Amino acid sequence: MKKVTPSLFSMYQICKREAWLHANGINMEQTSETVAEGKLISETTYKQRAAKYTELDLGVAKIDFYDAKNKVVHEVKKSNKMEHAHIWQTKYYLYLLKKMGIDAATGLIEYPKLRTTERVELTNEDEAYIEKAVAAAETLINQKTCPERIEKKFCKSCSYFEFCWVGDG
Ligand code: SF4
Repeated sequence: MKKVTPSLFSMYQICKREAWLHANGINMEQTSETVAEGKLISETTYKQRAAKYTELDLGVAKIDFYDAKNKVVHEVKKSNKMEHAHIWQTKYYLYLLKKMGIDAATGLIEYPKLRTTERVELTNEDEAYIEKAVAAAETLINQKTCPERIEKKFCKSCSYFEFCWVGDG
């Protein structure tokens, strides 16, 4: 049974097909310049972080930069175009932390290129939504058939763009 990781949950907010493809091992990210650039930002902008923050294993995923003293999950993103998905990814981390007994943690999404940050908290309503949505996402990623593609402007910057659209008559 495939499990819903926070990054899969983020994809699920954007495109269910993307989440299914990723969960089922069809991975184009190595060829995606956008993803490579995002990784570079994460690695170079925050070189000092490894010493300052700890890595935390949540079972289904790990948090790369966790400030245990202040109970803050730090997420670094390249652009805020998909901010709602970044927020849900971070809220899912907070939810998983709460399940582990770490209550009232918060998140900080950082956009180094934009020099902005977004603070994230987990409400009771969020928890109810996450429980429902994660169950639905788990059903989706374990189904045999790939969901239909969606036609959105952001397809052009998706790592599956060629897979979904190139060669299509
Ligand atoms: S290219 Fe579009 S339809 Fe295909 S996975 Fe990406 S967002 Fe979804």
